[in-house]
Amino acid sequence: MTETLIQLAYLLAAFFFIMALRTLGRPETARRGMQLAAFGMAVAVLATLLPARIVSYDWLAVGAMIGAVVGYPLGMWVPMTAMPQRIALSHAFGALAATLVGVGEYTHGAATGSLARGHVLALGLEVLFGGLTVTGSLMAFGKLQEILPGRPVTFRGQNSMNLVLLAAAVIGLGWLIVSPNEVWVFAAMLAIAVLVGILFVLPIGGADMPVVVSLLNSYAGLAAVATGFAIDNNILIIVGALDGLSGFILSVAMSKAMNRSFANVLFGAFGSTEVGGVATASAGGKMSTTSAEDAALRLAYANRVIMVPGYGLAVSQAQHQIRELGDLIEKRGGDVRYAIHPVAGRMPGHMNVLLAEAGIPYDKLVDMDEINGRFSETDVAVVVGANDVVNPAARTNPASPIFGMPILKVSEAKSVLVLKRGKGKGFSGVENDLFVEPKTSILFGDARQSLLDLGLQVKGA
Ligand code: NAP
Repeated sequence: MTETLIQLAYLLAAFFFIMALRTLGRPETARRGMQLAAFGMAVAVLATLLPARIVSYDWLAVGAMIGAVVGYPLGMWVPMTAMPQRIALSHAFGALAATLVGVGEYTHGAATGSLARGHVLALGLEVLFGGLTVTGSLMAFGKLQEILPGRPVTFRGQNSMNLVLLAAAVIGLGWLIVSPNEVWVFAAMLAIAVLVGILFVLPIGGADMPVVVSLLNSYAGLAAVATGFAIDNNILIIVGALDGLSGFILSVAMSKAMNRSFANVLFGAFGSTEVGGVATASAGGKMSTTSAEDAALRLAYANRVIMVPGYGLAVSQAQHQIRELGDLIEKRGGDVRYAIHPVAGRMPGHMNVLLAEAGIPYDKLVDMDEINGRFSETDVAVVVGANDVVNPAARTNPASPIFGMPILKVSEAKSVLVLKRGKGKGFSGVENDLFVEPKTSILFGDARQSLLDLGLQVKGA
C-alpha cells in the first residue's frame, strides 16, 4: 500500500515538473513555473522519505540542515550577474550527490558480492557522467567567477587526448560489465571522468560557459537517470530525463542563436585568436560622441523609442535606471519598447530576467523577430551596453566570425544612441560598424550613470 502511494506521489511530482517546464517558457508565467517545480520537488522528497527502507533519519536531517545553510545564501544573496556561475555550482553539487551515491552503491555491492551486470552498467554511467559534471561544472564556475583564466587554454592534441580518455572510460565500463567486482577498474573510470571534466572545459572560452553549463546540466540529468536505475527510483529516472533533454535542447538553441555549431562552441576554442582585425569601416572610422543634454532632448521629443539592452546593462546593474528613463519618455507621450535578443547578455533569458526585476511590463519586452520590423519607424534606438547583438557585420560581412548570427536591426532606426564606457568590443571581439555610422552618437560612461543623467535631463526638458 505504501509503495503504491509513493509511486502515485512520484507521478504527481512528475506532472508538476512537466507543467513547470511548460510554464517556464514565458516570462509572464516563469515565476509560477518555479513554484510548480518547487512544489513537485517537495512532493518527491516527502514521498522518498516515507518508506521504511530508510535506516535512520538522523543523517538525513544533518544533510538537510547543511544544504539549507549553503543553499539559502546561494539563492537569496547571489546577484543576478553571477547567476551563471551559481548555476554551475549547483550542478557540481547535484552531480557530486549522484557520484557519491554511485560510489556508495558500488562499494556496498562489491563488499557483499551482490553486483549484477545491469546494476554495474547503471552505476558506471552514473559515476562517469557524475564525475565529469562535478569537475566540469567547477571549472565553469572558476572561469565565470574569474578565478581561472577565461581564455581558452589549448595545447596540441587536446581534443584527441580527450577522446582517448573517454574511450578508456567506456572500455572500463565494458570491462566492469563483464567482471563487476574489479574495484580498481571502477576507481580508474571515476578518475578518468574527473579528469575529462577538467580537460573538456579548459579549452572553452569563459563567455561560452553558459552553453557549457547547460550541457553539463544535461549530463547531471543523465547521471540522475543512471542513479534512478541503480537504486530503483522512478522519479529520479523521470526528472533526470527531463533535465538531461532540456539541458541539451537549451545548449543547441543557444549555439543556434549565436550561429555557431555546437561542435564549434565545444571544440572550437572561440576567443583564443584575435579577431578584431577583421576589416570593417569602424577600424578606421570615427565615433561621434554626444552629451546627456543633447541626447535627452532627442529622447524627450521622440514618438517611438526602442531600448536595446545587452551585457553592459547587466554589468552596470542599470535595469531600474533603464525603466525609469523609459517611464519618463512615456510620460511625455513617447512609445517605448524593449528589444530582446535571445543571446543578449551571458545567459539565456538574461535580459528578460533583469528587466522583469525592474518591473517593466512583459508586453513591453518584444522578441527580436517581432521588433525587427519596427526599427524603421523608430525615432531613437537606445543601445545600452549591447554590441554583438546589434552588429551589422553579422549580416553584411561574410569574413566576420559572427556572420549569419541573427541581430537586432538597430541601424534601420532614424537615429541611434549608444551607451558604453569606451571602445571595448563585445564578446566576439569584432569591431562594430554601427558605432561609426553617421546616424549613431555615443554617450560614453557607465550605463547606469548615463541613464541617470539622461533621466534627469529628460525630466527638465
Ligand atoms: P557584448 O557583445 O558582450 O557587448 C557588451 C558591450 O557592453 C561592450 O561593447 C561593452 O563596451 C559594453 N559595456 C560593458 N560594461 C558596460 C557598462 N558598465 N556600461 C556600459 N556599457 C558597458 O554584449 P551583447 O550585445 O549583449 O552580446 C552578447 C554576446 O554574448 C553575444 O556575442 C553572444 O553570442 C554571447 N553569449 C551569450 C550567451 C547567452 O546565453 N546570452 C551565452 C554565451 C555567449 P565597453 O567596454 O566599451 O563599455
